[in-house]
Formats: sequence, C-alpha cells, structure tokens
Amino acid sequence: MLDKLKSAWSKASSAVVHWLRRCNGADNLGMAIIVTSLIALILARITGLALLAYAAIALYLWAMFRMFSHNKARRMQENNRFTQGWMKGKTEASQALNRLKNSRKYKYYRCPNCKARLRMPRGIGEKNVTCSQCRHTFKQKA
Ligand SMILES: [Zn+2]
Repeated sequence: MLDKLKSAWSKASSAVVHWLRRCNGADNLGMAIIVTSLIALILARITGLALLAYAAIALYLWAMFRMFSHNKARRMQENNRFTQGWMKGKTEASQALNRLKNSRKYKYYRCPNCKARLRMPRGIGEKNVTCSQCRHTFKQKA
C-alpha cells in the first residue's frame, strides 16, 4: 500500500517537474510586466481608478501566461525584442543625459545628410564641418 502510494507520488512529482521544465519561466520581459503591473496596482489604489486595477490584473495574467507557456521559442523572441529595446532606450537616455551635462561646453547638432549626432566646442564661431560618419561637409555655428 505504502509502496504504491510512494510510486504514485514519485510519478506525479516527476510529471510536474517534467511539465515545469517545459515552461518558459521568469525572463526580463516577464519581470518588467510584473513590475509594471505592481505600479499600476499601486496607482489604482492611490487614484481609485478601476480601469488601472483591471489593467494591472491583465498584465499579471499576461506575465503568468508567459511564465507557464511551453512555446519557449516564441517567448524567447519576445524577450529578446524587449531586451534590445530596453538596452537601446537605456543607451539613448544616458547619451541624452551626457548631452545635457555638457551642453555648456559643446553645441550638439545633427549632420544634415545622415542625421548623425555631432558636437563642437561652443564659442569657436562658424566652421566648415566634415561629418565623421558620411564625410558630408557643411557650415556649422557654435
Ligand atoms: Zn553625416
């Protein structure tokens, strides 16, 4: 009797382990969705907006769906797209902060040809500038 119970338990637990191994689990996008969901829930509590609470629940359910999804390839694709976008946004934010910090020292502008971001020291007057990216030459004042 006990042996049968032990065997059934071992079969059931190995089935659960096998099922869980096929799940996507927690990834960057999943964690970001959960954090966003918590923020929406807190905002819903503060503002009393029911719509925000529903959005928080929907986000949470989406995160759970992704976590237990067995379509790992698709979930990985979504996560990679999210991670790339996140890193791009992070880089752009830090570059914008740097431009703001140095805006007294440098004049920032874009190349009229390729739109590359360029800079020159302030107070040097009008100069002929050659773009470092596309070699286009134009006049720029700083
Ligand atoms: Zn250029």
